[in-house]
Amino acid sequence: MRVLTDADAIAALGPTILVPTMGSLHIGHLALIRQAADEADCRGLAEGASLTVFVNRAQFNVAADFEIYPRDLDRDAALAADAGASVLIAPDDQTVYPPGADHTVPMPPVATEPHLEDTGRPGHFQGVCMVLARLFRLIRPAGAVFGEKDWQQLQVARALVVQENLPIEILSGPTVREPDGLALSSRNVHLTPAGRTQALALSRSLIEAGRHTDPGAAESAMRRVLADMGLTPSYAAVRDAETLQPIEPGSTRPGRALVAANVTGVRLLDNMPWPDPPPF
Ligand code: AMP
Repeated sequence: MRVLTDADAIAALGPTILVPTMGSLHIGHLALIRQAADEADCRGLAEGASLTVFVNRAQFNVAADFEIYPRDLDRDAALAADAGASVLIAPDDQTVYPPGADHTVPMPPVATEPHLEDTGRPGHFQGVCMVLARLFRLIRPAGAVFGEKDWQQLQVARALVVQENLPIEILSGPTVREPDGLALSSRNVHLTPAGRTQALALSRSLIEAGRHTDPGAAESAMRRVLADMGLTPSYAAVRDAETLQPIEPGSTRPGRALVAANVTGVRLLDNMPWPDPPPF
């Protein structure tokens, strides 16, 4: 696996399938890398799968979170190579955001209107749109793989490539979970043992939502499960899976149940298809 850091080497990269990450890789990221490697193989792309490891200051709405974000490039490189990545791209701030230019990009409606992560983390999607637009223009991948775990981010990425007219296919990989249902996240390490138990309320609330075919009833059921385990969510919502707007009465479009909650100081999020959550 090659490790690229400078802008010229990155610009010289051929067609690849990219997995954008902030490092601190876990099994969820590695599944996306494997998927990207398979996809690159199918398409006969010479560069195979690549990943970026870039902790993007612009998407942290709490500065202290950026400072304490775990960084260990040697560990990430070993794991990524093992999972089948051919190239690891680890640019510095100046390469991603050359000084003296305005790197902001307009945000698509799905990044500002749903009042989900956009409200819970003000400024977050501005940072996500900015970094994706920059990385996509620098690397020019044929496709990019995102985790369903961050469902609104996935929809933002899809809308962004259309808005910016970038010829990049956005692909997605399913959420990787612990056997008891907790979605893997770099933040789980910060959970106390009691918080780890409480965190199960998120996936349980999503499964419970699936038992109700009325969106309002599903949302109430989610809140009940969360409250029973002592949690008040930032949101517990059933929405159109693509636009993340409320579901129109009689709509036959796919739905998605989404939840975010602060569990002993750790902000966790999860989502599942609605009304038919998959078994795990
Ligand atoms: P991050 O480094 O946290 O920005 O995440 C990089 C990518 O990994 C994003 O596309 C996430 O949605 C994805 N991801 C994070 N957790 C999981 C998980 N448990 N299962 C699958 N993908 C994940």
